[in-house]
Amino acid sequence: MKTLNEIRSTFLNYFDAQGHQVVPSSPLVPRNDPTLMFTAAGMVQFKNLFTGVETRNYSRATSAQKCVRAGGKHNDLDNVGYTARHHTFFEMLGNFSFGDYFKSEAIPFAWDLLTKEFGIDPNRLLVTVYHTDEEAVKIWKAHTGLPDERIIRIATDDNFWSAGPTGPCGPCTEIFYDHGDHIWGGPPGSPEEDGDRFVEIWNLVFMQYEQFEDGTREPLPNQSIDTGMGIERVAALLQGTNDNYATDLMRSLIEASAHASSTDPDGPGKTHHRVIADHLRSTSFLIADGVMPSNEGRGYVLRRIMRRAMRHAHLLGVKDPLMHQLVPSLVQQMGAAYPELGQAQSLIRETLLLEETRFRQTLDRGLKLLDDELHGLPEGATLPGEAAFKLYDTFGFPLDLTQDALREKGRAVDTDGFNTAMEAQKAKARAAWAGSGEAADATVWFDVADKSGVTEFLGYDTESAEGQI
Ligand code: ATP
Ligand code: MG
Ligand code: MG
Ligand code: MG
Repeated sequence: MKTLNEIRSTFLNYFDAQGHQVVPSSPLVPRNDPTLMFTAAGMVQFKNLFTGVETRNYSRATSAQKCVRAGGKHNDLDNVGYTARHHTFFEMLGNFSFGDYFKSEAIPFAWDLLTKEFGIDPNRLLVTVYHTDEEAVKIWKAHTGLPDERIIRIATDDNFWSAGPTGPCGPCTEIFYDHGDHIWGGPPGSPEEDGDRFVEIWNLVFMQYEQFEDGTREPLPNQSIDTGMGIERVAALLQGTNDNYATDLMRSLIEASAHASSTDPDGPGKTHHRVIADHLRSTSFLIADGVMPSNEGRGYVLRRIMRRAMRHAHLLGVKDPLMHQLVPSLVQQMGAAYPELGQAQSLIRETLLLEETRFRQTLDRGLKLLDDELHGLPEGATLPGEAAFKLYDTFGFPLDLTQDALREKGRAVDTDGFNTAMEAQKAKARAAWAGSGEAADATVWFDVADKSGVTEFLGYDTESAEGQI
């Protein structure tokens, strides 16, 4: 059985042997790109190579990239604990061609790695292509002998990548693995697609065209390849499970959480352990890359993830801060591949401890208030926005934490009401401040305060060249 660490090296060595430069992961906070919340794909650090703005002494590269999808355009936070295949932090394995090889090499590279190096049963694989991409269909057929019914044509944006309304774009082909009919879910394009049976493992993007303002497209002079494969998903299938959380790395974190909380990893607290293990990775890696918890921007995303994890720890019944105790297990698992984790170990532990100690002062009382509110509500009714706002304002509950807590109970929050309450409070504060005769300073202060608001925060999105993968 291949461990996650072995899978990473197998991938990088394979593409190294095919003439690719092995490039280290870039940080989770993209350099020189304030429009991006976090690095969410392997291609981010190569953006300028695809557009030709920058050239390097290689035209093929491969990487294992740290990714966080917990804010901005890519957000899988709400999937964690609910699907077996989404994380807030994951590693994306990729191979890239900058005007070097194109489809007729990219498809065989991927297929041979999966079926020969990794030994995956070809009968369990199926692929999607963009509905007009006959070239890709032809290559798939010729190289793999996949039958027609396992080459699925998709007409949606899922299989067409673009950086924005203009610029490089092109079709994608995605590789799926069928875990078998004992698991719920349908093939790509079907109404039941959103299950864990057919799992997307690898996305190959063909940067083929340049799109212009008038909507026309021309072939790019330098056609390029950008691929991304989630290492945890491949690890799952290579380790004979459809569940990312049952793989060696995630399992060891779950066991650390169970041990530290003296609970059963597979007992009633199972979901809590999964969320904790996932959030431990994203929070630790974000801190290692210089993000600190705060009330705005990236720091607020970090704080939200931390507090969500802390609520789950609380639900396990532990009385003392838990998250910081798990850091050594993470460093042991991932410190060799990512030395920054080991270097930042004490900072990560201290930050988690401080945040958890502080949040625990209000967490109990906040949860009690939430319970009381729910008691007074008719079955299935949404939580009034003012209550959610009070939890936010007085007890430090980010809106999504309250939503996460309610989702377990099949309830939702009145978010319009929440936003109204938020606006009302801001208006009141503004009026009070204006009356104090310090208008000039007030502007600055409210700019900061506005940014910290959840409403604005959720609006932190971008149409930048982040790409689909
Ligand atoms: P999905 O449809 O499953 O959400 P995606 O289409 O959003 O995945 P891409 O943007 O194509 O994903 O990213 C490339 C690969 O990265 C995916 O094929 C998958 O293997 C992996 N991946 C994407 N999101 C996650 C995640 N949140 N957790 C773990 N792996 C992921
Ligand atoms: Mg997705
Ligand atoms: Mg997808
Ligand atoms: Mg995809």
